[in-house]
Amino acid sequence: MEEISDGRLYGPNDMVKADCLGCNGCSSCCRGMGSSVILDPYDVYRMTTGLHRTMQELMSGELEWNVVDGVILPNLNMNGPGEKCPFLSDQGRCRIHAYRPGICRLFPLGRYYENGSFRYFLQTGECDHARAKVKVSKWIDTPNVTRYSAFVTTWHYLCKEVEELIAGETDPEFQKNLNLFVMNTFYMAPYDGERDFYEQFDERITRFRQIVPE
Ligand code: SF4
Ligand code: SF4
Repeated sequence: MEEISDGRLYGPNDMVKADCLGCNGCSSCCRGMGSSVILDPYDVYRMTTGLHRTMQELMSGELEWNVVDGVILPNLNMNGPGEKCPFLSDQGRCRIHAYRPGICRLFPLGRYYENGSFRYFLQTGECDHARAKVKVSKWIDTPNVTRYSAFVTTWHYLCKEVEELIAGETDPEFQKNLNLFVMNTFYMAPYDGERDFYEQFDERITRFRQIVPE
């Protein structure tokens, strides 16, 4: 952490030097990021309902699946020409700014998880452009930070739980079926854009817990 950050951890109400408003659309962080821009269920809710596209449609181009520590999760597909994000315009602007994933909203901040919770840190090596101070909650540009933080925490530790279950099981059928269940429950089953995301997420958690008790 010391080498990649400024040594501080930030909460939603803290000010942090993250705002690259004057970068004039350099968009370096929208290129060559490999499979690192992983989407969580809220990202998929925002993207599918905002763009009126299904996950099946997005999976045939802009998104792809990858295995992260044994768990199959979707990410932005940057394998095309110039290794750029498929949502980046020729002018270097994000074409889905309102529906961009949480990782894009954070950058150059990252999340540091500890003791069942998380705080933000500034990735000092990722972008050396001059940046202004901004309040963390403003920078992540997501309504209701308290609910959002609770969701981020729940999702992170659920993924860790699935990761441990998969790592502790040698039966490939079990690993495949658990992954398929997580993919279908939290990503592929369509979200209703007229309804609150968190309610729908809680319903899916209930379904998950019927199969994987705490
Ligand atoms: S965060 Fe850095 S890399 Fe990304 S657009 Fe701003 S200046 Fe460019
Ligand atoms: S979704 Fe937008 S902000 Fe995120 S990498 Fe793609 S172009 Fe950049």
